[in-house]
Amino acid sequence: MAEPKTTEYVVPQSVGEAVEALSESPKARVIAGGTDLMVGMREGHVHPTRLVDITRIQELIGISTQNGSLRIGAATKIDEILHHPTVRSEYPALVDAGQLLGGWQIQNMATLAGNLCNASPAAEMSGPLLVLDAEVEVMGPSGERRIPLGEFWTGPGKTVLEPAEILTTIVIPGKVSGRLSAYQRVDIRHSVDIALVSSAVGVELSEGKVQLARIALGAVAPTVIRVTEAEAYLQGRTLSEEVLDKVEDLAEAAAVPITDVRASAEYRSAMAGVLARRVLLLAAERG
Ligand SMILES: Cc1cc2nc3c(=O)[nH]c(=O)nc-3n(C[C@H](O)[C@H](O)[C@H](O)COP(=O)(O)OP(=O)(O)OC[C@H]3O[C@@H](n4cnc5c(N)ncnc54)[C@H](O)[C@@H]3O)c2cc1C
Repeated sequence: MAEPKTTEYVVPQSVGEAVEALSESPKARVIAGGTDLMVGMREGHVHPTRLVDITRIQELIGISTQNGSLRIGAATKIDEILHHPTVRSEYPALVDAGQLLGGWQIQNMATLAGNLCNASPAAEMSGPLLVLDAEVEVMGPSGERRIPLGEFWTGPGKTVLEPAEILTTIVIPGKVSGRLSAYQRVDIRHSVDIALVSSAVGVELSEGKVQLARIALGAVAPTVIRVTEAEAYLQGRTLSEEVLDKVEDLAEAAAVPITDVRASAEYRSAMAGVLARRVLLLAAERG
């Protein structure tokens, strides 16, 4: 009979201790809320020899502003983000997405960084942060680095994190202050489901004309993607029916989804266009 596999559980009190605990054991993994990792372990997809629980590290918890930037600690729960007054008033796309993430039990366990590090192309918080030009701060054995979120994912379940690196902070830069934002997804069950397609939009308007646009799509490519052609097209334009038709076409063309048991690739592509148009209007109406 095979030996039962044991997993060591460590609870560091600082980022330095956590990096050390990860460095000592090649198959160590960070655990935060555990809502993705525990499922993966139970299904036998991951076999960590050591779990490094980062949820007691105070410097990784909470939301603050610094020189106009919003800084969200990696281990901040989705529920805390949902109730934060600055997030609610200035970054509504994060609220749209957080409300859809699981049910309230999951929102009380799941962390923001866990959602990003799991690197699912359907992850709820990725698109909203992408359209807000978010960056992530990372700490590892060789020190700290900052990575634009758009360069963080390399494929489904894959990020640029090196072994023993921890995502410590998500930063929304001050320059996006005033950017209107929104997020929606198409799903089957409406609650405790994952997106068939999702879209997030960030838009800056002046006298009805688009000054800057960001459009992201989820679940239609190996990572969450930006629709850069539609973003460039929108510059200087008003949101007329003709312009919205064009944005819809460009978003549909940018999607490269797969067919699976939940939806066909054709349906996902068509919905990517419809959703990008709808979410763009929703964001603009928030002005
Ligand atoms: C019933 C259910 C419903 C769900 N519904 C949704 C949904 O609607 N939308 C959605 O997007 N997700 C959903 N999820 C997935 C999950 O809840 C989220 O992705 C959640 O945000 C993961 O956060 P966590 O803290 O639980 O991550 P964990 O499970 O603790 O970790 C996830 C991964 O990230 C790594 N990691 C975590 N934090 C860090 C860090 N700071 N630095 C480096 N690596 C790190 C871990 O090693 C692991 O590989 C659902 C899950 C369940 C069980």
